[in-house]
Amino acid sequence: MTIEELAEIMKNNGISGAGGAGFPAYAKLNPNADTILLNCAECEPLLKVHRQVLKTYTFEILSGLNLIAKTIGAKQCIVAIKKSYRSTVAAIEAQLPAFPNIKIGILPEIYPAGDEVVTIYETTGRVVAPGSIPISEGCIVYNVETVLNVYNAVFRQQPVTHKYITVTGEVHTPATFRVPIGTSFEALIQLAGGASIDSYVILCGGPMTGTLAQNTDVVTKTTNALIVLPSNHPVIIQKQTNQTISEKRVMSACCQCRVCTDLCSRHLLGHPIEPHEIMRAMSSGKVVKPQAILNAAFCSGCGICEMFACPQSLHPRTLILALKAELRKNGIAVPKPEYSAPVNPQRDYRKVAKERLTARLGLTKYNTPAPLSEKDFHPKKVKILFSQHTGAPSIPNVQAGDSVAVGQVIAVPAENALSNTIHASINGKVLLVNKEFALIEEQKEA
Ligand code: SF4
Ligand code: SF4
Repeated sequence: MTIEELAEIMKNNGISGAGGAGFPAYAKLNPNADTILLNCAECEPLLKVHRQVLKTYTFEILSGLNLIAKTIGAKQCIVAIKKSYRSTVAAIEAQLPAFPNIKIGILPEIYPAGDEVVTIYETTGRVVAPGSIPISEGCIVYNVETVLNVYNAVFRQQPVTHKYITVTGEVHTPATFRVPIGTSFEALIQLAGGASIDSYVILCGGPMTGTLAQNTDVVTKTTNALIVLPSNHPVIIQKQTNQTISEKRVMSACCQCRVCTDLCSRHLLGHPIEPHEIMRAMSSGKVVKPQAILNAAFCSGCGICEMFACPQSLHPRTLILALKAELRKNGIAVPKPEYSAPVNPQRDYRKVAKERLTARLGLTKYNTPAPLSEKDFHPKKVKILFSQHTGAPSIPNVQAGDSVAVGQVIAVPAENALSNTIHASINGKVLLVNKEFALIEEQKEA
């Protein structure tokens, strides 16, 4: 198979990164890569989905990885995983003799081991330069479920219609489910036995980088987890931060201790991001070092500075990401880094242990098993968004009143742009279509 043929299959089957920003998978294929990394770091507390999917579909995922590597001519594949995911590591080891170009790369039990810049450093020793992408170091990084989707598309002709999601926290039966894309969060919480408390807030994604969500929000190709937490839980209060109040608090309480910079995951790799310098400029109103402000572009948004490091409970990540968005909005390009320092020799002593982070966030009591459920779920309705990936939204090709079947294309990639294909996730009738989504109601076969 050629790279172009594989890219076409990925695009026609709607394969985007099954997590993070949902980068269309076809756009990552590059013949300059010598290494393909399978990211099974799952470094955020409470998330379990990747290791479960990899343990269950080991052969399929390693075959998908092998196919990608062979197609682009990469020399090696590395499964980046933590030792503590013992049963998944054992399942991989059992299959490795059939895949001589695949090896296991053990990651430390830290956060954010799954930030691809950190994953690449920990498994290959290569440092992706500030503002660069993995291919600059000869690497392509794919998420576990993305590669399963590649296998399903190539060997089973199945497009992306479903998603694996861990539902945990204050629910009666924490578990990981496979559900049609477009399922409402309310239905997912009911699948997990319903909320176990009255006053709760839903977090979509991990506690560090996830966002607050509503019952009416729906599953997309990037949804990995729903965490149901009490509305007064510290993680929820942190996420409800008001930016103006955060700015005022920095002015009154930032003591310039620089712990945020000392523990910053990107700074420790030599990237020129120094959150304390940005906080200093914000608190004094004086920009003594303009480059320090521009370096906000190199923040990964991992959240260590505000969820773990800052002794004053300030919000450097929130403010830096707002600044980064403002720079982008005003057309200020990512600066050429003033310097790329060597990896900090203190890095090994400043890594954030995941267990410690879980305790610090007040989440240890929710770190319970959430096994992969065998239940097949058939929602009555799904709302399928046309913007589930990085790039331009897909263009609908169905109308209200049309009958659609699972796997049928309902939106095509935008022309001449980074975009992707979207498929129906249930058999049903299209009730409504607009530029943003299609609403499909289940229709049972006669
Ligand atoms: S850790 Fe907090 S108090 Fe210390 S410099 Fe950073 S923002 Fe300021
Ligand atoms: S969120 Fe904070 S710790 Fe993480 S990269 Fe950005 S500045 Fe550094």
